[in-house]
Amino acid sequence: MLLGYHTELHPTKVQKTLLAKHAGVARHAYNWGLWLTRNILNHNSNNPGSKLKFPTSIDLHKLLVAMVKPNNYWYYEVSKCAPQYALRYLSEAWRRCFSKVSAQPKFKKKGRDDSFTLDGSISVGFNQIKLPRIGWIKTYEILPDNVNPKSVTISRKADRWFISFKMERTPQISEKSVDVVGVDLGIKTLATLSTGEVFDGSKSKKKLESKLSRLQYLNRHKTKFSKNWKKAQVKIARLHKKVADIRKDDINKLTTYLAKNHSQIVIEDLNVSGMMSNHKLAKAVGSMGFYEFRRQLEYKCELYGSELIIVDRWFPSSKTCSRCGTVKESLLLSERIFNCECCNFSCDRDLNAALNLAMAVSSTVTACGLDNADVARMKQE
Ligand SMILES: [Zn+2]
Repeated sequence: MLLGYHTELHPTKVQKTLLAKHAGVARHAYNWGLWLTRNILNHNSNNPGSKLKFPTSIDLHKLLVAMVKPNNYWYYEVSKCAPQYALRYLSEAWRRCFSKVSAQPKFKKKGRDDSFTLDGSISVGFNQIKLPRIGWIKTYEILPDNVNPKSVTISRKADRWFISFKMERTPQISEKSVDVVGVDLGIKTLATLSTGEVFDGSKSKKKLESKLSRLQYLNRHKTKFSKNWKKAQVKIARLHKKVADIRKDDINKLTTYLAKNHSQIVIEDLNVSGMMSNHKLAKAVGSMGFYEFRRQLEYKCELYGSELIIVDRWFPSSKTCSRCGTVKESLLLSERIFNCECCNFSCDRDLNAALNLAMAVSSTVTACGLDNADVARMKQE
């Protein structure tokens, strides 16, 4: 099974320039090829008697090497794959256009369509990837092991560079010990599962975090750009990096555990913009890396043969009583214990939310027009 993988690169300044050059050549080749093929099509429609053969991507590359490369020295500074693949993509675009799947290909614009594809000797390390003509580039994330991508595509968004490739993975469908699990991402803890399991995250992370906030606090009165201030800034940056690494490792472990051992995993689609109005929660969600969590869960579920279910962000998982289904009007973030006034149910706030998420699925499974609350009420009666 081929899985798509996508992650951000952490190139050096020199590498950034080299990446930009590759993208520039790819764009130039694509636009030149488009210009040429459009002219050929124009010629053919004006001269039905003496039609020119429409070039294949191999023809185009031969023409490019003969006509364009000698006059554009910067083609020699990049891998020949970049223009080759660009022309291949152009041919595909024309094929889609001729078979009326999509419109005519358009000229690529600098800064908006910066991407290129490379193949050849590519090696994937722990947190770096080796590319022909560019060398080892660091990634922010730990890369999956045992992958040998045949080709990679590199693209730019604003000032950030991303890499994507396909990786061959044998599905590792495992025996699942739990059918449905609801996962509530927490503020105090990493995650609470509806099975009652709580993932605290590494203890060392909490220690580092408190060290970090103390450093930041102590540094607030230092004169900016003074020697001491600079020293402290370096220390703070190092700590930030350490905390981020531990967080990545935590999320990695949690998502693997979830995908391996549960048939259905239910999470909430966090409403990030709404949450950003709540400063404390925004900070927690930001540092939790919700998107990273979801992204990893998505591909791991595919890998381990489980299903990821994302519940609507308006589902009041925290405010609903998981026993009787009564929805509270308000629930303060500081209320760590959920107390139901209707049925006197009392339980950890995050566990209650996780239970509701797990039930959100079992209620759709019953699919007889009853919602959660109805089912729960019937159980009570
Ligand atoms: Zn209740």
